[in-house]
Amino acid sequence: MQDSFGRDIKYMRISITDRCNLRCKYCMPADGLKNKLTHADILSYDEIIKIVRVAKSLGIEAVRITGGEPLVRKGVPDLVRELSKIVDVSLTTNATLLPKYAMELKNAGLSRINISIDTLDANAYKEITRVGNLDEAIAGLEAVLDAGFDPVKINAVAMKGIKQNYNDFARLTFEKPVHVRFIEYMSIGDIEGKYISEEEIKAQINADLHPVSGPIGSGPAHYYQLDGAKGTIGFITSQSNHFCNTCNRIRLTADGKIRPCLFSDVEYDVRSGNIKDVLENAIKNKPAGHEGKSGTFRHMSQIGG
Ligand code: SAM
Ligand code: SF4
Repeated sequence: MQDSFGRDIKYMRISITDRCNLRCKYCMPADGLKNKLTHADILSYDEIIKIVRVAKSLGIEAVRITGGEPLVRKGVPDLVRELSKIVDVSLTTNATLLPKYAMELKNAGLSRINISIDTLDANAYKEITRVGNLDEAIAGLEAVLDAGFDPVKINAVAMKGIKQNYNDFARLTFEKPVHVRFIEYMSIGDIEGKYISEEEIKAQINADLHPVSGPIGSGPAHYYQLDGAKGTIGFITSQSNHFCNTCNRIRLTADGKIRPCLFSDVEYDVRSGNIKDVLENAIKNKPAGHEGKSGTFRHMSQIGG
């Protein structure tokens, strides 16, 4: 279905939980969320499947499961198995639970996995995630490659004040067939911060990055490759260079609210009426862009990125 600005809405991000086993500085408060959702607030898998069926009838072709950390919720492979009978299904995760789940997710029909790792330095990883262990995330990455997922993308939020060595990621693209994407930090919730731009990252890598076409499911990222590398380096410039005019997505929160725009707190409750009417209304009212808007009442962990 097209929104009122002629954009074809084909993609839905589905947050299945607001819980997480990490506490990334830019995403969650140190002591976790104050107003966690209750069991009754959270959409059941049956409700999610029903919503996706209706969304498909309106033109949604692909969904991405996210969180919080989606893999802390029980039974994700079962959800993937059902959803992948309806649409293309991918997942975004911090990877720490993938050694347990990667193969099961592959067998359930999951198409692709994006992994969030912001630094390849163990101490810096601990500092950014507050409680995380880099070895566990790397074991998750290995498990995904071993399970045969392709492409495998790594998301790294680029933000001033956190310790990141972009050359470590550049080196990783020679060692493994991974697509690293630097995502500009977005000001959401009450966390202060400033993004690091594509130009600053390229200056640090300081090598010949050739523009290349991205792997399947690239969304708004654009990509480069270093000579002889197995993988690529991409950028998602949501702050310095808005891509609202090509935005094809809506979001479903774990408590059943459709958010037509990440940066707008206008939400449509799927439990408030007929699902088709709610979805149509949300798509019709998707704003043109987020120019001038920043910060929302939710943290990113409650929206899913
Ligand atoms: N827990 C999973 C993970 O970390 O991949 C899925 C949820 S997380 C909210 C989804 C994505 O949003 C991650 O790649 C994360 O790095 C990104 N993210 C979180 N807060 C962000 C922010 N303030 N600005 C930009 N990206 C952010
Ligand atoms: Fe958790 Fe993902 Fe947010 Fe980190 S970015 S706190 S892993 S939801």
